[in-house]
Amino acid sequence: MGTFKKVLLASICVAFLAVKWYAPSFDAESLRGARVLVTGASTGIGEQMAYHYARFGAQIVITARREKVLQQVAEKCQSLGAQKALYIAADMSSESDPERVVDFAVEKLGGLDYLVLNHIGPSPFSMWKGDVEHTRWLMKVNFFSYIQMAWKALASLEQSKGSLVVVSSLLGKMASPFVAPYTSTKFALNGFFGALHHELAMKKSNVSISICTLGLIDTEAAMDKVKGVTNVPAYPATDAALNIIITGATRQTDLFYPWFTQIVTLSKDWFPSLTSYIMQNSYNYIP
Ligand code: NDP
Repeated sequence: MGTFKKVLLASICVAFLAVKWYAPSFDAESLRGARVLVTGASTGIGEQMAYHYARFGAQIVITARREKVLQQVAEKCQSLGAQKALYIAADMSSESDPERVVDFAVEKLGGLDYLVLNHIGPSPFSMWKGDVEHTRWLMKVNFFSYIQMAWKALASLEQSKGSLVVVSSLLGKMASPFVAPYTSTKFALNGFFGALHHELAMKKSNVSISICTLGLIDTEAAMDKVKGVTNVPAYPATDAALNIIITGATRQTDLFYPWFTQIVTLSKDWFPSLTSYIMQNSYNYIP
């Protein structure tokens, strides 16, 4: 390895350790009684977040489309120690449901300390074949409902010195083949909430915004999509969920989970050709 590469690698390691060292410490007690709304909580990472919040003794409202599944998750939350576990079925592609869900949570919990935006609509893992309508629909679910809910919840979060947590993806930082509509929605989230973060800071708002950049996580939905297509390792949903919660609770601006997603994000700007080559050759695809 050349001197330049060694120095670069050492600098990355030092920067990483410095960031970890200065990360604020997490006080689990701060979540006892916290009023939390988690979207997309019927399965996957959202479901795991609901269980963690429950173990911390939070008061939770969960939402997704399938009422029966939500009911089961809420019952489990109750048995794990949630002070309250309520659910509301809603479709985030509808005009009115995003705001209706926030109203429900604020009313039932008497305010809001955390709004965790996590849901995504199903989207195919395939080359784009010109389906603009699907992309428009996905934008509604994965992006427009997020900004509607954030705006609706902002006054309550302001009152409680609360936190807005946005679950995004490595694919919101670097474009990837087979998921053009999905990757677009995540880029939109990063742009919008990045801008909102600055605006709130400039207004000296009480509300913190955390944007969570996740790599591949072993949820059923994700595993079904990438099965036989890539060998990229998947990380546990329960651990991803806990990291998201800690990031929100400690009011950190960013989460990169697993940690190397931050390096991958940097590498696309530092070594664009190499990153493109790796990206295009990390899938089993024969034209
Ligand atoms: P899942 O597909 O497992 O869960 C999606 C959730 O959204 C479900 O609860 C689903 O419930 C709900 N949902 C789907 N459509 C709608 C809709 N129209 N209205 C309301 N709710 C809806 O997702 P993951 O747990 O895998 O991902 C969670 C988050 O993590 C997402 O933001 C995703 O982008 C991000 N992420 C995930 C990665 C991964 O590898 N898993 C990688 C990077 C980021 P229901 O069907 O009942 O509505």
